[in-house]
Amino acid sequence: MSLQVFGMPVSRGVAIGRAVLVASSRVDVAHYYVAAAEAEAEIERLKRARDAVASEIHVLQRDLPRDAPAELSALLDVHLMLLHDEMLTDATKHWIVERHYNAEWALAAQLEVLARQFDEMEDDYLRERKADLEQVVERLLRRLAAATGDGHALPLPAHAARDFAGEDPLVLVASDISPADMLQFKNSVFTGFVTDVGGRTSHTAIVARSLDIPAVVGAREASRLIRQDDWLVIDGDAGVVVVNPSPIVLEEYRFRQRASDLERARLDRLRHTPAVTLDGERVELLANIELPGDAPAAVEAGAVGVGLFRSEFLFMNRDGRLPDEDEQYEAYRAAVVAMGGLPVTIRTVDIGADKPLDRMSVAELRHEHVLNPAMGLRAIRWSLAEPGMFRQQLRALLRASAHGKLRILVPMLAHLSEIRATFEQLARARAQLDESGRAWGRFEVGAMIEVPAAALQVELFLRHFDFVSIGTNDLTQYTLAIDRADEAVAHLYDPWHPSVLHLIQHTIERAQAAGKPVEVCGEMAGDTACTELLLAMGLRSFSMHPSRVAAVKQRVLRADTRRLAAALQRVLAAESPAAEAVAAFGSVQAG
Ligand code: PEP
Ligand code: MG
Repeated sequence: MSLQVFGMPVSRGVAIGRAVLVASSRVDVAHYYVAAAEAEAEIERLKRARDAVASEIHVLQRDLPRDAPAELSALLDVHLMLLHDEMLTDATKHWIVERHYNAEWALAAQLEVLARQFDEMEDDYLRERKADLEQVVERLLRRLAAATGDGHALPLPAHAARDFAGEDPLVLVASDISPADMLQFKNSVFTGFVTDVGGRTSHTAIVARSLDIPAVVGAREASRLIRQDDWLVIDGDAGVVVVNPSPIVLEEYRFRQRASDLERARLDRLRHTPAVTLDGERVELLANIELPGDAPAAVEAGAVGVGLFRSEFLFMNRDGRLPDEDEQYEAYRAAVVAMGGLPVTIRTVDIGADKPLDRMSVAELRHEHVLNPAMGLRAIRWSLAEPGMFRQQLRALLRASAHGKLRILVPMLAHLSEIRATFEQLARARAQLDESGRAWGRFEVGAMIEVPAAALQVELFLRHFDFVSIGTNDLTQYTLAIDRADEAVAHLYDPWHPSVLHLIQHTIERAQAAGKPVEVCGEMAGDTACTELLLAMGLRSFSMHPSRVAAVKQRVLRADTRRLAAALQRVLAAESPAAEAVAAFGSVQAG
């Protein structure tokens, strides 16, 4: 039966494919295809894991203390039975042979199918056996990982690719995915994503957007309503997921998919055209990246530098072993070198809120009882609370500055005391490098303006820093007191709110008066609905996902800043600026 699920659009375009449901706890299972010729070997791998788990359970049974309750042994019998049950063994093979899934993925897929069946059982006893099945699958997955000598199944092997000859395209459906896990899906087999939780500017959504594939977040019931292998249409423009569409609906979406592919190809041609408005204003379009490996894509997209490298992603998925100074230095140097002389802005770690160091998703964080993570120990607050680690990062950044044009960006500052403490740590890091005779080069230091307190006293920041960068994602979150990762209040998250616009305008105006560079690196910079507005405010430097550069450039090329500036006051004075912008700037689409 066809049905529609509504959420929030994250990444534009249409994806059509079969659903792959992944439980949040199973997101780190490797997803890759095995060639038909390798299917037998894959099944053999699974069989060996099963035999190993069977012996493991037998040993457990044998070693049970004499006085252990009889139920324990019976429970292990149930595990053995489940392990050898056809519904697990044969069906898992089916995913390998028919769909070419690797063994881990096949197991996880079958677990999802079976878990649903258990959930629907009337009998309490049988329903509760789902937990046993999960434990058995968990053991199997651990065995498989141990056998490949890979405790952590990802990253994907080289032959994991988006296209596998003859396969149906696949879209991923999960209740929630942490930003760290989302990062694992770069170069994965999936052509679209749907999650139950999250807001448009949650970090999971931001990483999903950087994958440049259609995605919908905050679709609440999606993972419950959608079944493994259902056909899905993900409408990343409207934020709608159509489950098992009728042939007519499917044809309509295929048509839109072709049209959007054509549009992309057309925009691609603008890649190397300089971004200059009709009245000759030069605009700098920079890229936001998560890892040094993203730098070539930024150059390829026509970005003239990196405006935001979110360095915290280097610190994720590390099982507690954080990158040391040398490893960080190599990563920063790689990014600087890859950009070949273009400026690279690296932000010091912004850990906390919806970006925990370990792989907790938003839903898990909510259960952690950290009362207000977004207002807690996050970003520079975290760095200043861990001065040793902060200096380690600063030393790595300073060393990388010897290899190119590096700019250091500090997130979430609000207090003069934080500014002072930051520069003190920087001075100490420099002294430490000098003492040990290690080289460092020229660099600039900038502040993110993303807390209303900072925007309101931006002059203070302009006195201390070489440049400022407006983080509109957090500026909106903190101005409106709306958790950007919470789908329950997502309808109130509005960067077009007059108060947010005034803070942005104020920051740009004061920076220009002080003669200091100002840029926007939040999601507004890559949203074409905001391009004219930001140009009208005087902004000439935008930093966004590489995939957005061409579309924003097209808006810049068609803009006349003199005409826009005249309309700005009307927009800023309006009760509903988004609607007014449509009237004032002409082609702007609100929202
Ligand atoms: C922002 O807040 O706008 C920003 C760019 O930083 P992040 O999205 O990483 O919080
Ligand atoms: Mg921010």
